Amino acid sequence: MQSNPFVVPLTKNPVIEMKVIPGHYTTNHFHLSHYLDLNNLKTNVSVAQDVAVELSLPYLTSTLVDTIVCMEGTEVIGAYLAGELIDEGTSVINAGKEIHVVVPMINVDRKLMFQNDKQEFIKNKNVVLLLSSISSGLTMIHALECINYYGGKLVGISALFNAYPEEPDQEINSMFTTEDIPDYQIYNPSECPMCTKGEKLDAIIVHDGYSEIKKT
Ligand SMILES: [Zn+2]
Repeated sequence: MQSNPFVVPLTKNPVIEMKVIPGHYTTNHFHLSHYLDLNNLKTNVSVAQDVAVELSLPYLTSTLVDTIVCMEGTEVIGAYLAGELIDEGTSVINAGKEIHVVVPMINVDRKLMFQNDKQEFIKNKNVVLLLSSISSGLTMIHALECINYYGGKLVGISALFNAYPEEPDQEINSMFTTEDIPDYQIYNPSECPMCTKGEKLDAIIVHDGYSEIKKT
């Protein structure tokens, strides 16, 4: 059952805040205990710019970046992130360079792909993958497979929220983590305790937005 939403501000910059709605949610593959409303961070240009400043920090001094691949509606942030990275005043390594911001498309087989005229921005390029929230990690894994398939060199993964366990060879730079939502849970539908208790689903999460389910 949905309960009261709450807000988690970023300690370093409280303008950046994540709205969290506890409840019983489903994606295509998993059930989740919380819905994260990150739309304001992704669509409000002044907030998105602040987000980009935060996300640029791990790359400013050391990471060559040619392309930012945006997933889950992060294009506005991606554009500002590119701006931060090429800015003469803030960046060292990418200052004055060209950085391209691209979004993969989903083909008829529901696989991610880059159209022919976008592939040149991936092949042999230093790629940062930008995601909204990483929960089960499936979207991230599909995006990484896609970047790899088209010959991109992954130099970083950034996300607004990350619940995915860190692997030593693949650091994920995220602003928020499960430490900000201590009881955040992801379940296989067959093992979901909310389903076991007979609690109806509140909403379906699709492409990082949600559609409420009318309860009868
Ligand atoms: Zn469930």
